[in-house]
Amino acid sequence: MATNIPAASPIIGDEERAAVDRVMRSGMIAQGPEVAAFEGEFAELAGGVTCVAVNSGTSALHMGLIAAGVRPGDEVIVPSFTFAATGNAVALVGATPVFVDVEEDYFCLDPAAVEAAVTDKTVGIMPVHLYGHPANMAALQQIADKHGLAIYEDAAQAHGAEFDGTRVGSFGKFAAFSLYPTKNMTSGEGGMVSTADEDLARTVRLLRNQGMEKRYENELVGFNTRMTDIHAAIGRVQLGKLDGWTKTRQQNAKFLDENLSGVIVPPVADNATHVYHQYTIRVDAADRDAFVAGLGERGVGSGVYYPIPTHALPSFGLDLDLPTTARVAKEVISLPVHPALQDGDLEKVVAAVNELASAGA
Ligand SMILES: *Cc1c(COP(=O)(O)O)cnc(C)c1O
Repeated sequence: MATNIPAASPIIGDEERAAVDRVMRSGMIAQGPEVAAFEGEFAELAGGVTCVAVNSGTSALHMGLIAAGVRPGDEVIVPSFTFAATGNAVALVGATPVFVDVEEDYFCLDPAAVEAAVTDKTVGIMPVHLYGHPANMAALQQIADKHGLAIYEDAAQAHGAEFDGTRVGSFGKFAAFSLYPTKNMTSGEGGMVSTADEDLARTVRLLRNQGMEKRYENELVGFNTRMTDIHAAIGRVQLGKLDGWTKTRQQNAKFLDENLSGVIVPPVADNATHVYHQYTIRVDAADRDAFVAGLGERGVGSGVYYPIPTHALPSFGLDLDLPTTARVAKEVISLPVHPALQDGDLEKVVAAVNELASAGA
């Protein structure tokens, strides 16, 4: 009986457990010194800008948009081919997410589609660095500059990815990272806002803490979206391991690139560094479900991210014509690429995919 290879597998070791124990013994478990240290250490990953920790990636997007002044009546251009949290965050501030198409190669916002969607209500563009491949930030920045728009990065899947040698997280007005267990690093649950704008950073610090800096002198109507010191302690250990894990993801991806046949493997733009949150292949839409089932029968876990474009989810219920989004949503399969893979796992993934591809599964 073959052991199953999981599609994702967070690596939680003795150091993470020891860090949690240290915080528990300190008696200071809510937001405190661990969170402050984690924010300082995360800054390098986000291209050297200021970081503010919150309780999830969704909160990071939400708090960031409020702090950026996005309000009801505003439009923010987002990809439809992403996790629902991207569009949700825009809707949660009362603004309108304007869903546009992605480009086929990298599954990220199509600059031409963005340009075509700009109206006099547009205030910003929210690219998603989907699967760990950066969006075309040069083209998007040009459109933003031309129309006086802000960029808000959804970097939830792209810790350490680079475009033109610059880390994602430092391109826009702010960026949001997720620290959910299946992401490239985790704090249990958690998120990080990164920004070069100190006023925006301060507003996020207020918003996460009931609008208070000075205790009981609330300046804003805020939330409780704080990160705990327990979560920050886990995140700090994981941050120290991230570079090694990213290299392993990239090596695993290279092996898959070189050995898979009969499927479309994910290309990487010349000026981009892919951190392979997911390694996503494409197969014929008519074969996709059988392919996923066949992988499962061969002990290979896989995932479909995301089978329904955000605009078409019941929560938005929009009928839009986004042809590339519609097509790739039916073709994508993400294969195991994570650093917890064991010796021989990649060979097994390759054998299963190539067999299914040649059989026209
Ligand atoms: C995971 C994710 C989020 C949300 O992060 P959480 O930490 O789960 O709230 C937002 N956007 C994208 C693209 C994601 O993958």
